[in-house]
Amino acid sequence: MNTKIWLSSPHMSGKEQFYINEAFDLNWVAPLGPNVNGFENDLERYLEDDIHVAALASGTSALHLGLILLGVEKGDEVICQSKTFSASANPIAYLGATPVFVDSEKDTWNICPEQLENAIKDRIAKGNKPKAIIAVHLYGMPYKVDEIRIIANKYEIPILEDSAESLGSTYKNKKCGTFGDLAILSFNGNKIITTSGGGALVTKSDALKEKAVFLSTQARDNAPHYQHSEIGYNYRMSNIVAGIGRGQMTVLDNHVNKRRSNHAFYKQEFSDIQEIKFLEEPTEMFSNRWLTCIQLPSYKIREELREFLLKDNIESRPLWKPMHLQPVFENAPSYINGVSENLFKKGLCLPSGSNLTDNELIRVVLGIKTYFAKC
Ligand SMILES: *Cc1c(COP(=O)(O)O)cnc(C)c1O
Repeated sequence: MNTKIWLSSPHMSGKEQFYINEAFDLNWVAPLGPNVNGFENDLERYLEDDIHVAALASGTSALHLGLILLGVEKGDEVICQSKTFSASANPIAYLGATPVFVDSEKDTWNICPEQLENAIKDRIAKGNKPKAIIAVHLYGMPYKVDEIRIIANKYEIPILEDSAESLGSTYKNKKCGTFGDLAILSFNGNKIITTSGGGALVTKSDALKEKAVFLSTQARDNAPHYQHSEIGYNYRMSNIVAGIGRGQMTVLDNHVNKRRSNHAFYKQEFSDIQEIKFLEEPTEMFSNRWLTCIQLPSYKIREELREFLLKDNIESRPLWKPMHLQPVFENAPSYINGVSENLFKKGLCLPSGSNLTDNELIRVVLGIKTYFAKC
């Protein structure tokens, strides 16, 4: 059996261990310390804008705190891009709020501006104005930032930008993670950089960052004893995990370049196979190409190809199943145009890690070429 080729696996620089050892030497083995502050500074510098970052336990916890900071409560409605990973939507349910799902457009596969405005108008007409909009830059491709912002401002609804898959992507030369009223990042094991597990809430003010840190460390009031006037959470990032993050920040741009070069390689190699289509990068957008996704002519071919690759120990995965089709969200209101469902049926994510070797890439390409030569 050939060795396994993963969709997207952790890729260490070697520098991570230095920061972890330092944490052990100084005995900062806790959910605070120099690595946590250092990692936050690195991210703030990277995102460039006037940005304040709170390092947290996961992207999911960052979404949860983000919704709390935006004032989402039980009984509220929150609009969420339907085509995404479940973690974008679950925190809405944690709060006893209702997700309202909005379909995608074809240029970026992200939240459709027209459907978004339809949804907002309809929810307002039904007497429940949405409290927030969760927009996602899927697979590293930015959503239509300007169009979505204009609609959000028109109806005065804040945006929670899910940038979990798009660290290193830009829109009009500005980094993803800086467009929402609040934004989140993820450093899970399969993301563009990883801390094993981790995330961050990105804010535009130090006060908001401090509030996120306060809530993530059990909401302790300023008193010598433990006193609480708010419900707190245990969501802060550990100093060990943050050490991995500091090492990973030194190679983030390399990871983006390598993932983009994987994408370019696949595109070049499959230029003769008419059955395979790629998502083009719209002008003004720069995708980190976190995962390279292809569109195939049918569900049947997609599944055959996936299983064909699996026989050679190559992992590939269907595109995210839209949230409005998930059993757990079957009762949620949704505004649908068919785009996300079609992408789900015919789309396949290919191995895309920044640690893929030339030989591994060639194995994937040969596998796919062999499949199409046969049929
Ligand atoms: C990974 C991911 C998350 C969740 O991040 P975790 O750090 O795994 O909790 C949220 N949204 C999207 C789009 C993701 O891909």
